Amino acid sequence: MKLIIGGIRGSYPVAQPGFMKYGGETTSLMIEGRRGERILIDAGTGVRMLGARMAADPGARRVLLLMTHYHLDHVVGLPSLGLIYDPAWTIEIAAPAHDEYEVEDTMSRVMDRPFWPLQVSDLRSRIRFHALAGELSERPMAWGSLDLRWCPVQHPGGCTAYRIDEPESGASVVVATDVEWALSNDCARERLRDLCRTPTPAGLLMMDAHYLPSEIASFRGWGHSTWVDAVDLARACDVPKVRLIHHDPRKDDEAMDRLAAEAAAGHPDAVPARAGEELELSG
Ligand SMILES: [Zn+2]
Ligand SMILES: [Zn+2]
Repeated sequence: MKLIIGGIRGSYPVAQPGFMKYGGETTSLMIEGRRGERILIDAGTGVRMLGARMAADPGARRVLLLMTHYHLDHVVGLPSLGLIYDPAWTIEIAAPAHDEYEVEDTMSRVMDRPFWPLQVSDLRSRIRFHALAGELSERPMAWGSLDLRWCPVQHPGGCTAYRIDEPESGASVVVATDVEWALSNDCARERLRDLCRTPTPAGLLMMDAHYLPSEIASFRGWGHSTWVDAVDLARACDVPKVRLIHHDPRKDDEAMDRLAAEAAAGHPDAVPARAGEELELSG
């Protein structure tokens, strides 16, 4: 199973020198299974590059797009996903509802007038929406040979963390973007720990580390965590590797390097993710 990072910047994109080591595109990741299955997580501006990669090597011309939530930085890339204009492609867009916001209504609004000239109903690809049952997965959902699990996490307006397992290879990853660990109650913490541990300790945790431990007190309630939260969660769940995600758009490469050095002192395998990075995951 392979993980490709299209973009990993939080809140809004940045496109200027001094930010390109970690990248300026907002959150979008892709998982490729051994059998060619593809799953996108979020459609931030990084989805453009992932779409181009799929167009160049189309395989089954089918992709599942899982949405963590609908904040702009996670949806704004949808119009730049070239596959949605291609009649050969099927794009299945799935998420549990957050409050009253169902995936079909919400994602359709991203391209509604007057924000974009084409509506979802005008697109030439086959787009299907799936409301995932329940905020918390009762049993894994299959996408080819991959298993998906999810749980809600603490974030203003709600957010979903996803886990993807490839039982054939034993590879697994948990993606927990946009989560405020400090404000999470015991129940929310235990759910995320369960996701990291079940059915086995995940091989990789990707977790929101937007703020430094020295900053977080000033941003209480803003919905984000620190590298210490990510490292503590990984340790508690025997997850060996951590990629820190949702990089603060105010932090340039030098600031991110300082964050990386702090995190490395706390955990040798905690590293800020970079746009364009490809990770081969194994069991
Ligand atoms: Zn975000
Ligand atoms: Zn958010």
